[in-house]
Amino acid sequence: MEQKKTVLIVEDEKNIVDILCFNLQREGYTTLEAYDGEDGLKKAQSEKPDLILLDVMLPKMNGFDVCRTLRKSHNNVPVVILTAREEETDKVLGLEIGADDYITKPFSMRELIARVGANIRRIAMGVPATSAAEGAMTIAGDLSINTDNHQVFRNGAVVDLTQREYELLTFLASHPNKVYARTDLMEQVWNYEYVGDDARTVDVTVRRLREKIETDPANPRYILTRRGVGYYFST
Ligand code: CA
Repeated sequence: MEQKKTVLIVEDEKNIVDILCFNLQREGYTTLEAYDGEDGLKKAQSEKPDLILLDVMLPKMNGFDVCRTLRKSHNNVPVVILTAREEETDKVLGLEIGADDYITKPFSMRELIARVGANIRRIAMGVPATSAAEGAMTIAGDLSINTDNHQVFRNGAVVDLTQREYELLTFLASHPNKVYARTDLMEQVWNYEYVGDDARTVDVTVRRLREKIETDPANPRYILTRRGVGYYFST
């Protein structure tokens, strides 16, 4: 029996919480609820959910601050932002502060369930197997990845990556010099089909990854852009 995954819902609109709980439980998830940002943060830290659905406009502490605080404390739980607005700024800001994904309200329950599943699966697949034959995998220059414990080092110092950034880096690094279109990366790393404007999601994640692993993010050495095509890892 696979253990039930837990989803923490941080949302102040009771009717949305109810419908999310109902549908997630029907899909086999355990659900936790928080109706304001402070309580959401507290439960994220104490209950250790497998994923957080996080509204932006919340009493006491907004969703961005909740996410920012979690990431600052090195909590890399998958966070899916629920944004009420179509505004690009909300989506990009969410990703920049370390959210893994976003979904715009009103959302279809089917899409939401798919996103929750994709984000949890991605983590599950990333969990290393019990055997640990290979230790650190040095990849290039001053950068090395230890695939056993999911740590990335630059000049020997740990680089603090979100799960998504780690997945993107290891995916590109495991196929050096092969150029991937944004749509391919959405499918391979984000685990779901390309849906229109999500190319921006890839760009933002690449930018954040570069800021963490590159000496000069404006002139990257590892994650390079092939103009008009996509991204690749240069050895
Ligand atoms: Ca709200």
